[in-house]
Amino acid sequence: MRSRADALSHLQDDVFDLVVIGGGITGAGVAFDAATRGLSVALVERNDWSCGTSSRSSKMIHGGLRYLQNFDLGLVREALLERELLAKLAPHLVKPLPFLVTAFEGGRRDRKIGVGLNMYDVMARRGLRRGKRDQPGEGEPDFWSPERHRTIDGGEVLELMPALAPRNPTSAYLFYDCQTDDSRMVLTVLGEAERFGAVCLNGASVTEVTERNGRAAGVMFEEAESGEPFEIKASNVVNATGVWADTLKTEELRAVGVASIRPSRGTHILLDHEQLPMKAAAIVPAGGGRGIFVLPWLGQTLIGTTDNDYSGPIDRIKPSGDDVEYLLGAVNEFFDRDFGEDDIVGAYAGVRPLISESDDVEKKSVDISRKAELYETESGMLTITGGKFTTWRRMAKMTVDRLVGREFRDAPCKTDEIPLGYPVEISQLPEVEGLSPIVRQHLASRYGLFAEKILEMCRERPELKERIVEGAPDLLAEVVVAARFEQARSLEDVLMRRTRLGLLAGRRLVADGKAVKRVAKVMGSELGWGMLHTRREIEAWHEAIAAESIVAPIPVSG
Ligand SMILES: Cc1cc2nc3c(=O)[nH]c(=O)nc-3n(C[C@H](O)[C@H](O)[C@H](O)COP(=O)(O)OP(=O)(O)OC[C@H]3O[C@@H](n4cnc5c(N)ncnc54)[C@H](O)[C@@H]3O)c2cc1C
Repeated sequence: MRSRADALSHLQDDVFDLVVIGGGITGAGVAFDAATRGLSVALVERNDWSCGTSSRSSKMIHGGLRYLQNFDLGLVREALLERELLAKLAPHLVKPLPFLVTAFEGGRRDRKIGVGLNMYDVMARRGLRRGKRDQPGEGEPDFWSPERHRTIDGGEVLELMPALAPRNPTSAYLFYDCQTDDSRMVLTVLGEAERFGAVCLNGASVTEVTERNGRAAGVMFEEAESGEPFEIKASNVVNATGVWADTLKTEELRAVGVASIRPSRGTHILLDHEQLPMKAAAIVPAGGGRGIFVLPWLGQTLIGTTDNDYSGPIDRIKPSGDDVEYLLGAVNEFFDRDFGEDDIVGAYAGVRPLISESDDVEKKSVDISRKAELYETESGMLTITGGKFTTWRRMAKMTVDRLVGREFRDAPCKTDEIPLGYPVEISQLPEVEGLSPIVRQHLASRYGLFAEKILEMCRERPELKERIVEGAPDLLAEVVVAARFEQARSLEDVLMRRTRLGLLAGRRLVADGKAVKRVAKVMGSELGWGMLHTRREIEAWHEAIAAESIVAPIPVSG
């Protein structure tokens, strides 16, 4: 990405076709789609890329088996097609993962799930309801497409899920969904938006949507480093601020029937992979007739999620103690273990932007649809919210279609054929002494072809080959990349979202103060921090993880 200084100067000098507010997956998607259709685009994010809900998901690119229960068939179908497309456009970031629904001795496989999986298989098929045009042509390469679900025996269950050894699994349904690193996906989409000319700036909090002749005509924002106000002039404004959407032009949104954005909180915890080894994901029964996921993710085991109405502050959300207890209880029962809060290596919570319209007041958050909603309000501002991470491309298309449609532009959507980043095989990457294939694979998965540049950097500056935390493949070189090419401004940006070490190794980062100091030193030399500034940044990091209870103590209730 371009540097913040460069982006800021462009934002002041140019007049844009579109300004997008919000740097989560929805805003990034809208900026990307609009830029690829030839619009000049500015995007501003209040804090950091993906710092809202888009770094706090369950990391699944999926149809959502659960939504079949609510008969949200359109949503499931759309998400399944997007899943397949994203696995094709970004194969390094969107990877198939086997999921198991297991039966144990004395129990039987749940037939209802079998029926649901049959539907899931059928709905995932590309031929369904689509014209011949959408089928791969003769000689055209086909891309990842899930195998049909099947049943496997107890032996195979244990191979895929060694953590189940204490139980006696007899069989399981096996099906596929996909998994990603949500923050890295946002950064990749932003990178593509920039490649098509978009100008993106984080640390830019929109304070007002400006108007000319009663029409939305740009934004005023406050720049985080200087505290100074700036204006962006644009012919169109898209509000993609997720759970914050009703804080901008609130009255206009009320007038089109948005009663409020009703946040629902979802909590996740991570356990050490060594303690709960998983090669496949498990659907684990939990209280209240719901299921949770236990997934292998970036070398650790990720467990979530909960889904409860939430009314607390939304800027820094803590995992709820009750939710943590609920997750641990379900895992302990299913795997026959005795994990407690001390075993948690990291935890996080996020809020879903569920749109509550006037007739939804009585509904519980789990019952409100995950469908995306697009509102055009009196000033012409478009607000896009709701939806799922998986369906970001469709949400972006819907928004930009409306935008170009009202200007009678002939500019069809092309994002279904533009690769997201450049995938690379590790055999294509240069060897660098001292960097193992695991590290090279990690770089290829996270950065695609850009990994080449990182490896060159390591060759020139061998001190950057050092790992940030022992046992995790993330390198100090990635700190340089984050500060130089990804607009990272704080240790939190680097440890929570450029790398995911804050979640994967939060406890170790707290216990070993030296690792954080090393990161701060490298970042400081990139960003020109003095000693005092560096010390303040380290303190700010500790305050940030305490404010969100990333590492224990987790609040006991609430
Ligand atoms: C617990 C949980 C698990 C989930 N799991 C999955 C999953 O596995 N798969 C899936 O498909 N979906 C999942 N989802 C849904 C998905 O994560 C969200 O739908 C998606 O991330 C929303 O993205 P967004 O860009 O709309 O919002 P956000 O990511 O919240 O982005 C909004 C951005 O706007 C910025 N902003 C706010 N106000 C301003 C302002 N005034 N000026 C500038 N910027 C501003 C914020 O800082 C924020 O970065 C999950 C959601 C939750 C809560």
